[in-house]
Amino acid sequence: MKKFELNKAYDPKQVEDKIYQLWEKSGFFKAQAASNKKPFTVLLPLPNANDPLHVGHGLFTVEDIMIRYRRMLGESTLWLPGSDHAGIETQFVFEKKLAKEGKSRFDFDRETLYKMIFDFVEKNRDINRQQLKRLGFSLDWSRYHYALEPKIVEFVLNTFRKLHEDKLIYRGERIVNFCTKCGTAFSDLEVEYEERDDFFYFLDYGIIKIATTRPETIFADVAIAVNPKDKRYKNLVGKNATVPIINKKIPIIADKLIDADFGTGALKITPGHDPFDFEIGQKYKLETISVIDRGGRMINLPKEYLGLKVGEARSRVIEDLKKEHKLVKIDPLKHSVGICYRCKNKIEPIIIPQWFVKIKTLAEPAIKAVKSGQVKIYPKKRFEKMYFNWMKNIRDWNVSRQIVWGP
Ligand SMILES: [Zn+2]
Repeated sequence: MKKFELNKAYDPKQVEDKIYQLWEKSGFFKAQAASNKKPFTVLLPLPNANDPLHVGHGLFTVEDIMIRYRRMLGESTLWLPGSDHAGIETQFVFEKKLAKEGKSRFDFDRETLYKMIFDFVEKNRDINRQQLKRLGFSLDWSRYHYALEPKIVEFVLNTFRKLHEDKLIYRGERIVNFCTKCGTAFSDLEVEYEERDDFFYFLDYGIIKIATTRPETIFADVAIAVNPKDKRYKNLVGKNATVPIINKKIPIIADKLIDADFGTGALKITPGHDPFDFEIGQKYKLETISVIDRGGRMINLPKEYLGLKVGEARSRVIEDLKKEHKLVKIDPLKHSVGICYRCKNKIEPIIIPQWFVKIKTLAEPAIKAVKSGQVKIYPKKRFEKMYFNWMKNIRDWNVSRQIVWGP
């Protein structure tokens, strides 16, 4: 009998590579559409090409099991691989890398920075592909796509153009979530919220008193709003309040969205620096004034505050309100504050020209599709209500980012 030597320990290097090569050469993972076969397709959630895979990507194994099972049943099976250029995420990862080397994105011009990120992504993209193979995933590599390859970019741009022609995308000046440190706007989904200890400042606006957490924005006030059912203020609606320091007259209006139990029940309306106030401003065609710029500095106000940072301006305004006896009281307040998920800086709502997706036209058929059962949500009980709630209250979606990396 022939003697057979077996290694003491299992060495995957000796075995796994060869097996994967055999699988690939034999075309086992290549999908073939056939009219007499049931199709079964899974799109690999594209890994971001800005880092090697992490341990979570090991969960792709679940998809691999489903795909292999269906393939063995004789179905037409496709597991489609690809890489995501991951715009803003990749630029952030790259900037962190630059910071470690003591550099920042501002040390390079746009083209150089783009080229550097491009090379960085190419390297990671290749590592990702090798890792997916090493994990034995039965992906159809003949159909691999990268989100920044010319054909895909053209497809994206054409889709964008079509959305624009269909009037579903527009460039407009609306309020956006802006991080003055990162220098970019974010969508509503990218803002994190945190409970923070703050102060509630009660201010004297002549015939009415208001409460605010942001006294530095009083220069951008255009109205005071109360609830029409609030008996305290019924006689004041239609009259004028006076913004302290600048002694500007602004109208008192009534809207049922105003919470009579919050603060004094009278809300200062600052469409330029608050998303809720922006909606009220649109509804009543109020003026929009911006007093904070993209760098987080004060603009369009009396010269003693010009150019100050938001925090400095707040202290100065509080001092001046005290001098004029317009500061009634200060209460401590715990409230939810929007912060940048990247640098934890406070998000500044400001108005800048950006591209928006008109959501209402899209939300209506999306609601219908779930109501009619065409699209099913699991688990229904927990998420269907959340979905409807979200779809009904969604505002036009900001798709602009102030970054260099992308198509
Ligand atoms: Zn930030």
